[in-house]
Amino acid sequence: MRLSSYFVPTVKETPNDAVIASHQLMVRAGMIRGLSSGIYCWLPLGQRVMLKVMQVVREEMDRIGGQEFYYPALNPVELWEETGRVKAFGDNLFHLKNRPLVLAPTHEEVVAWLAKNHIASYKDLPQIWYQIQTKFRNEPRPRSGVLRGRQFIMKDSYTLDATWEGLDRGYDLHAQAYRNIFSRCGLNFFVVGASSGAMGGSASQEFMIESDAGEDVVALAEDGSYAANLEVATSLVDQAKRSPNAEACAEIHTPNVKTIDQLAAFLSVDESRLAKSVVYWAGEEPVLVLMMGNDELNESKLMSVMGAEVRPIEPERLLQLTGADTGSIGPVGLRGFRILADKRLEGANELISGANKNDYHLMHIDLARDCAIEGYHDLRTVREGETSPNGTSRLKIVKGVELGHIFKLGTKYSDALGARFLDENGKELPVIMGSYGIGIERIVACHIEQNHDGDGIIWDKAIAPFQIHLITVGSRSKEVVDTAERLYSLLVEDGVEVLFDDRKDISPGFKFKDADLLGMPFQVIVGEKNLAAGKIEIKERRTGDRTLVELESAIGKIQQLLV
Ligand code: ATP
Ligand code: MG
Repeated sequence: MRLSSYFVPTVKETPNDAVIASHQLMVRAGMIRGLSSGIYCWLPLGQRVMLKVMQVVREEMDRIGGQEFYYPALNPVELWEETGRVKAFGDNLFHLKNRPLVLAPTHEEVVAWLAKNHIASYKDLPQIWYQIQTKFRNEPRPRSGVLRGRQFIMKDSYTLDATWEGLDRGYDLHAQAYRNIFSRCGLNFFVVGASSGAMGGSASQEFMIESDAGEDVVALAEDGSYAANLEVATSLVDQAKRSPNAEACAEIHTPNVKTIDQLAAFLSVDESRLAKSVVYWAGEEPVLVLMMGNDELNESKLMSVMGAEVRPIEPERLLQLTGADTGSIGPVGLRGFRILADKRLEGANELISGANKNDYHLMHIDLARDCAIEGYHDLRTVREGETSPNGTSRLKIVKGVELGHIFKLGTKYSDALGARFLDENGKELPVIMGSYGIGIERIVACHIEQNHDGDGIIWDKAIAPFQIHLITVGSRSKEVVDTAERLYSLLVEDGVEVLFDDRKDISPGFKFKDADLLGMPFQVIVGEKNLAAGKIEIKERRTGDRTLVELESAIGKIQQLLV
């Protein structure tokens, strides 16, 4: 491709609205342009990278027996009503105004619909169906460039199985395909245990890169033996101790005490004796959750336990329902609330909690004796420095970007839509599903997050838009131009992808800057001085290493570099 006529609008300055490196560099390198919040045009250079990534994804999906489909982005809203996901996605789902259609944010519904209508018997199973297609999500805060778009391309696949062992097999095949895809795309990634969120289902894992640009938070064991999204991460922490004391509950006056720290100081007790009450709505029901001391409630864990969306209760509603303010709520004698407690508090007594009366607390609480606790669950958010669940090391908390997600869905969608098959004995059973996604744009952006320097992008050969950036220095010299033209033709004939900076009247300095910004793995520089000695120069973008090569052996040398 000749840069003189190729549409690559590079920019020198960092765009003001771009905060993270990949966003800045993709705009500066002329790969994308933002049309509106979370909506991007992919320009030719960017599109080439995207197509390469898709090719890697296709090859690995085909290798595990995937069959490529193309589902419609426009879906009847009834289909989404049937699975309860109009509600679950809420404002994230785009609805059309002039027809009862939604823009699909994912395709479990369509796949289950196809299965319902066209899978009849166990003989039709297993299946691995995939597509690479545009998804629409009304993300509330699209930032970070293409990392979080309102329109983005996903490779989504679905396994359909007759047995749970089949689902395990399909899931493991995907896990391996994902490792291959991300390795081939030159990403330094890790895998974490994850929450199933609004998707439903059992096991789920995310593939991530560590990055401050990320919006996910993960807990990693320092020795690498454990990694989990903070939404589900656990650690080894002490249980509340049981005391032989068995006094009855008694009120204590605690004027102006609002926080756990203030209460611990006021009463001179350790915070582990304090049971903090946190109140949420789970769907339409109020739930009181007891946490030990300053432990933080994990909303995602609460959501999994409740099987419903959760949100903090409004202080005014709480006052209406209990007669007390947030800092004075407690589990004893509280009516009309479901009460759950964190596992750490299981079996605890001699606790102090709110008395449901402003400025009063209760002491000597024995949870089993005094409160109607519905269940004890792991509901706390782990903290940096805690012991990893296997006890071998300490946890660190880092930010990450999710590249891909694999889920064992089970029968949630087949049950909702009636996707059933006949087993060997003629018994009707629901199809067992798995669902697996990869963000194509995220691979591109994450690759740049991990592969750039102060001068620009540094592409890996596997997904670079071109392998060679050919530059003429001294474009007025006929010899330079002729040599570069000859090299260009020979390389292209050999199937090498070359971006040829054949622009006239552009200074060498400018060309070098552009070449570093665009980041092709190798720059081949044809300049007057070296040519006089029968040589050309090859610069490796990643290392900056430069070598002079005899003109006659240049093609061979370049071919060698590219294997
Ligand atoms: P996130 O938590 O980052 O919003 P998600 O859990 O909603 O992601 P999935 O529904 O599992 O994502 O989608 C599968 C993949 O699609 C993700 O792993 C990610 O790579 C990609 N993806 C999801 N949302 C977006 C988006 N708004 N823009 C670009 N890619 C996205
Ligand atoms: Mg999301």
